Amino acid sequence: MPELPEVETVRRHLERTMLGLEITDVACRSPSMRRPLDPGRLRSGLAGKAFVGARRRGKYLLLDVDDGSVLMHLGMSGILGIAPSGSPFADHTHLVIRFEDGRELRFTDPRRFGFAHFLAGGEEEDDPSLRRLGIEPLSKQLPTELPRLYRARRAPVKNLMLDQGLVAGIGNIYAAEALWRAGIHPRRRGSAIALPRLVRLAQAIQSVLREAIEQGGTTLRDFAAPDGSPGYFTVKLDVYGSAGRSCPRCSETLRSATISGRATVYCARCQR
Ligand SMILES: [Zn+2]
Repeated sequence: MPELPEVETVRRHLERTMLGLEITDVACRSPSMRRPLDPGRLRSGLAGKAFVGARRRGKYLLLDVDDGSVLMHLGMSGILGIAPSGSPFADHTHLVIRFEDGRELRFTDPRRFGFAHFLAGGEEEDDPSLRRLGIEPLSKQLPTELPRLYRARRAPVKNLMLDQGLVAGIGNIYAAEALWRAGIHPRRRGSAIALPRLVRLAQAIQSVLREAIEQGGTTLRDFAAPDGSPGYFTVKLDVYGSAGRSCPRCSETLRSATISGRATVYCARCQR
């Protein structure tokens, strides 16, 4: 499942490779996604224009033309790749945006939880997906905002981290990593964590995400699928996926627990 570092890596890749090129055609090969594609709207919004920017909001991508944007989410299995026109399509290619230089931006998504939707200028503020998003985890305000938001809530901190309305874009993997790094137990209630520890948590979130983005950038140069899509990368993680192994900090055996239906890994000795 693409997490924020993958989305940011894709954003940077697209920014380097497709800005300024005229869009000559838009084809929806298979519009049936969870939020169905609207081929007419995508085509009339994009054809004859050029992307002028690529932004990220949480795990959403916004590809801008001069008077609107394509809002995209990669869902559980979405991949955005650039491929030469005429090369074979991967299975489950839903959307194809063709550029004047003979390349195409292709959106594939076997599980179809992703989507792509054209927003005309001014529609972004009211979009139901974007409207409810909390603050950006990589923003300068996080170390002051996160403690204020979490201290006011009694839910387990792990749940607070996955609440996209508080901080947007932290997924299960990086929540576990940041809690371990900050030494905070995933079940501890937000209201029961001292402020300096919440500041440390905010800093841990930023450092794990930044390091993953850096590693992702490196990985992306090394491998690209045959259709040119960047795919997902694996980054070096300290605890996620390591239940039963020893804690890299204190050697205690890492435990696995399910909190609100999501598996999490933690160290019972150094996370309090
Ligand atoms: Zn430990």
